[in-house]
Amino acid sequence: MDELILIDTHCHLDLEAFDADRSAALDRARSTGVRAFVVIGFAPERWRTALALAESTPDVFATVGLHPTEAARYDEALERALTGAASHTRVRAIGEIGLDYYWDAAPRPLQREVFLRQIRLAKALDLPFVVHQRDAAEDVLAVLSDAGPPHQGVMHCFTGDIDYARACLELGMYLGVGGIITYPRANALREALRWAPVDRLVLETDSPYLAPVPYRGKRNEPAYLLAIAAKLAEIRGVPIREIARITTENAVRLFGLSPDRLGAGNVEARVRSHELRGP
Ligand SMILES: [Zn+2]
Repeated sequence: MDELILIDTHCHLDLEAFDADRSAALDRARSTGVRAFVVIGFAPERWRTALALAESTPDVFATVGLHPTEAARYDEALERALTGAASHTRVRAIGEIGLDYYWDAAPRPLQREVFLRQIRLAKALDLPFVVHQRDAAEDVLAVLSDAGPPHQGVMHCFTGDIDYARACLELGMYLGVGGIITYPRANALREALRWAPVDRLVLETDSPYLAPVPYRGKRNEPAYLLAIAAKLAEIRGVPIREIARITTENAVRLFGLSPDRLGAGNVEARVRSHELRGP
């Protein structure tokens, strides 16, 4: 029987929210077919925790970067430390980096400069990058355009419409598909993800945030990735197995994971129960 293999390309398993049951949460996800986890280190304290988890867990990988809400901390010393952390063998990307005009925790020109510098760093290190964007859609495109596309990166938690998806894809970006696709009001997003080429989509939970329906409002965890895959399959009118296979190939390609290490157990029963229960 074919096995269903998924990759959670964006989660925060190192956060306190998982202190009580981290290894159980990993096991629950594995039993639904998740075979790799990309844990996002978005500030120096989180580089340490993400890397520690990746070192001790063979199917966990890490990213390192400075989140836009932390942009005021960026200086030469931090850039040197980031470069050093990025050379760790378990690091697969720079991120999450980008612009956040919702929280506006750092001046916008500074956010743009820090974003641009980290894109350049990712390129110099030959790593992809993970983009966080909130209320800054146009400026993110402007920085990406200035930074020498085509890029190797992903628009984490993509929430745009077809026009925005097209602009991101033209710059070389992948689209990160998360729990928001299950929310009732996300019609323009669903339309964009029906339209987008499937070979540019990757799945993510953003755990512990943004749990998909029917878990909305609870702590999100990587086991719920299957509900996101099921919804994407429904939106595109294809079997969940096809969505799993292609998004996993995409994630393997984007993050340089080794497919031979993504072995899997038989998860047929689990898949069925999720399909039946799915949103
Ligand atoms: Zn995140």
